[in-house]
This record gives sequence, structure tokens and C-alpha cells, in this order.
Amino acid sequence: MFNNLETTYNQKIPLDLFSISSYSLTLKREDDLHPEISGNKYRKLKYNIIEAKRLEYSSILTFGGAYSNHVTAVAVLGKKHGMKTIGIIRGEELAFKVQENPTLNFVENCGMKLHFVSRDDYKHKTEIVFLKKLKELFGDFYLLPEGGTNALAVKGCEEILTKSDSSFDYICTSVGTGGTMAGLVNSSLPHQTVLGFSALKGVFQTLVVKKYALKNNYNIIDDYCFGGYAKIDSNLIRFINEFKEKTGIQLDPIYTGKMMFGIIDLLKNKKLKKNSCILAIHTGGLQGIDGMNRLLKKKDLPQINV
Ligand SMILES: *Cc1c(COP(=O)(O)O)cnc(C)c1O
Repeated sequence: MFNNLETTYNQKIPLDLFSISSYSLTLKREDDLHPEISGNKYRKLKYNIIEAKRLEYSSILTFGGAYSNHVTAVAVLGKKHGMKTIGIIRGEELAFKVQENPTLNFVENCGMKLHFVSRDDYKHKTEIVFLKKLKELFGDFYLLPEGGTNALAVKGCEEILTKSDSSFDYICTSVGTGGTMAGLVNSSLPHQTVLGFSALKGVFQTLVVKKYALKNNYNIIDDYCFGGYAKIDSNLIRFINEFKEKTGIQLDPIYTGKMMFGIIDLLKNKKLKKNSCILAIHTGGLQGIDGMNRLLKKKDLPQINV
């Protein structure tokens, strides 16, 4: 059902472009794993779809915001594997804006059924009463939490690192819910440190990583979250555009842009072990740029170049 061609390639980033010496930086191009969806969301869904089929479900239901990479991945892979998909979206007002929201428009075209709930109702999304109502509306479904993190998602993310990555000293990733990071920790080697760059404020990800990680060779850094989830400023936009100009590689504003901003800052300030080799995971997220650029335009901020 899933092919075995799921390893991606590593690309060296010449650090002299950023006036950094005595480190080496390599990017794992998980963003290239699939043309339409984030690499890590593909990883997180793989074993969940296999499980949903094994249990003979015909629908998958999940949750997310207006620009969710996870909801997009469920819509694309659900369609590919012949499952109905239902997206419970935060924000009632969006029901009338599907056409002007590139993410929602895309998932609806994939055949996903969208159901919009108020921000207040959305807070109850993990409660039994709320889920029971959804079952009355949509019939039985395989449930995936917001962000898609569960044990099977972590198992999928354990496949990101391969044997040929054993020489790196640090493995860096962006952190949303922490599921991807837990998978990386589990397949990292004891001499490696996994650094998670949080895309949001708060500590719940630490609990998620703790719950699923089998080792504790990791650190979560939240100094580069730019004030919170999906918050960005002109500094970050400038960095993303500069990174693209210098390396040809597109970063996204929610996850990988913040991670790379953090990595370059740590290296410039020599905060990591001298002469170490760093592997950063490009988790993808590029589908969200279009939506973000529309918001930036409204706020009179510069655009992310694509
Ligand atoms: C969802 C996402 C993340 C965060 O993954 P978690 O497993 O939730 O921590 C990182 N990068 C991209 C591009 C994502 O879409």
C-alpha cells in the first residue's frame, strides 16, 4: 500500500554563505518526500492509514486550523488510499471563506468533508460527548488527533533517520506537538543530541516527547518561536527570503523557517559543540506559504518569496 521508496536525500548547506565556520550543516529534504504534503505528516499518517484499513474503517476524521498541514495530508492520503475524510476546522466564520483559503479549497477539492466549529466548541474536541456528536453526524470513523500525533505517528517518524545519518552530532527538527521529535529521538544514536525548535510557546510538547521517547538525549528550545504559533515578523520573513536566495531552498514560516533561524543563530554564537556536524530535518510545510502571504498582504508586511 505504501511503497518502500521513503528515504529522502541529504543536502549540505555551505555555511560560509552565512559567515559561519567550524561547523557543518546538512539538510534532510523530507519536504521532497511528496509533492503536495509535508514530509513529516506523510510519516505520521503512514501507519495510521495501514491501521485504519486493517480495522476496516472507511472514514478518517481529524481536526485542525484554517491552514493545517496535517488536515491537508489527511485529505491527500485519504483520497489516495480510498478512504473518506472529514476535517473538523476551528472557526465558524471560515465556512463562508473556503474559496479564498487556499488550504481549505484544496482539501475540499480532494473530497474532504469540512465541518466548521466555533473556537469554544473546538476546545472540547477530545471529549467523549463532543466525539459522540460527531459520530451521530458522520458515522463511525478512525480518529486522528489535531496534529496527528499518536504512537503510530511516532513509529512512522522513526523512519526519517537512516543508517547513513549515524555520523551527525546533532539532529534538529521543528516541534509542533512533539510527535516528530519523539520519533527522531527513538531512532537517534546515544552519541547524538536531538534539538527541537518549538514553533509555539508552552510546555505541553515536552510532555508528549517524554511520553513517546525511549531515550532522553534531547532538548526543546523555545527561544525562536517568535511569540507563538503562526506568529511571524518581518525579521523572520527577511531570513526566509535570504535563506532561499543563498541556498535555493524554500522554508515555511510556521515551522522550518523558525528552526533554521534558530540553528543559524546558535551557530553564529557558537552555542553548539565546536566542529560538530548538524543534521536539520526539512519537515516541509510549504503548502501553508500561500495562505500566510495573503495574511501578510492584509497586514502590509513583506511577502515570502516563492
Ligand atoms: C506539523 C509540522 C511540524 C511539527 O510536527 P509535530 O510532530 O507536531 O511536532 C513540523 N514541521 C512541519 C512542516 C509540520 O507541518
